[in-house]
Amino acid sequence: MQIVVCSNCGAKNRVEESRLETSEAKCGRCGEKLTGDHDSKPVVITDQTFEREALQTRGRPVLVDCWAPWCGPCRMIGPILDELAAESQGRYRIAKLNVDENPQTASRFQIASIPTMLIFKDGKLIDRLIGAQPKQAIAERLQLATRFAA
Ligand SMILES: [Zn+2]
Repeated sequence: MQIVVCSNCGAKNRVEESRLETSEAKCGRCGEKLTGDHDSKPVVITDQTFEREALQTRGRPVLVDCWAPWCGPCRMIGPILDELAAESQGRYRIAKLNVDENPQTASRFQIASIPTMLIFKDGKLIDRLIGAQPKQAIAERLQLATRFAA
């Protein structure tokens, strides 16, 4: 048995490993499909999936890294965000949004410089980090966000 945190509603589910492998496992609270390592990597989001991936996640924060491939500091924080995602254990989600390919979301949140990291919780923008930051600083803001009550 393994405890898997639902990527949609944050509920903790007790699941047999064999059912995760065959992806038959569903969240007991909301019915979302459960995957064992769903949040161990940053999820790539677009203008089309932003609403669902960032705003409809309930119960835990979503950090959206707004970046572009030509941006040096963005490339520096990329590996940091990979590590934070790997260490998340269901407490938060890490997402990446390419601002060149997704201008709608970038302008909606007035991204003036990159990298900008937006932290959402329960559908609300609750924090914003501008510029490259050390891992510890990002981890602290995520920690604050997990305790934030909307
Ligand atoms: Zn769920």
